[in-house]
Amino acid sequence: MTVSDGHHPLAALLDFARRTVPFYGDRIPEHAESMDSMPVLTRQDVQQAGPRLWSTEGDRHFWRRMRTTGTTGEPLEIVLDKGAQRQELVELERHLDRLLGPSVPWRTRDVVHLTLHRSASTRSVPSPWHPDAVLVKWNLSQLWPLPDKAFRAALGRLDGHIVTAMPSVMRLLTDRLCGGDLPPPSPLVVTLSGESSSAAVRDSLARQLSCAVTATYTLAEVGCAATLCPETDGYHPTSTVVTEIVQGELVVTSTVNRAMPMIRYRTGDQARWLSATACGCQRPLFRLRSARRGSLSVTLGGRRVNAERRRLLGAWSARPRAGSVRRAGDPDAAR
Ligand SMILES: [Zn+2]
Repeated sequence: MTVSDGHHPLAALLDFARRTVPFYGDRIPEHAESMDSMPVLTRQDVQQAGPRLWSTEGDRHFWRRMRTTGTTGEPLEIVLDKGAQRQELVELERHLDRLLGPSVPWRTRDVVHLTLHRSASTRSVPSPWHPDAVLVKWNLSQLWPLPDKAFRAALGRLDGHIVTAMPSVMRLLTDRLCGGDLPPPSPLVVTLSGESSSAAVRDSLARQLSCAVTATYTLAEVGCAATLCPETDGYHPTSTVVTEIVQGELVVTSTVNRAMPMIRYRTGDQARWLSATACGCQRPLFRLRSARRGSLSVTLGGRRVNAERRRLLGAWSARPRAGSVRRAGDPDAAR
């Protein structure tokens, strides 16, 4: 990939990082012609560099520091500037506009992010899109001990709204909600992220909840890097994250975050490019082949055990009194 146009956001980012981020001083050539001329950035690099990856410019009052969780390796500390904190919402807006089209007034609806982290809080903030709408983070683990009927009634809150969640959370939820006396909730759309999801899983969810189901490829380290193609099971890179596939591995660069630029960051996820003619979207397209993200562990009675899905589902159906689902690299854990 070339970066020769000095006005391209990528060229501007590289220049900024070379000038203001100590870590990049000697890693980025003064007039970088291509991304290949720069080394990739590993998790270990990020851990070892610490604050040397932070810019010496910018108002730190507006930065947000967060830690990724990690069942594999040490957590990473990530620093986001204001633009990077908004990036996921900006990309969600673009994605929903494309997916739902201009005739669906989705901006008047709430965006409800569902989690099952025991430690996560439930809170809401005004929506950026409509004065009557809110963005909600809803921790369902507090509701989980309710009897089935009361639990289902509470979940009616999701009807007609936009739901975001990890696939494993939606799966646990639909296992509990579907097949009883009360109909399951029917959101406007469900957006999956945080783990890879198969077309079969998305189709099943769409049938069970009678709604559109889509997905994004989102990492705590760079934000929303790609969104699911509406026609295929491939992903289209977002305009704010530069995507490369290096020796089969997804390598990403956020052009937004100036607090802690992540340039050529190795995701650990495998992918391959598909022909851009595979769909009618006229955008680059890749298929995720394997994603290390999605390994689950579950805490039961304060004891943390790694669990495959079957064991996890079995554990949940046994209704532990206290439980939480955690996942490597989940941005939730830091919020
Ligand atoms: Zn497409």
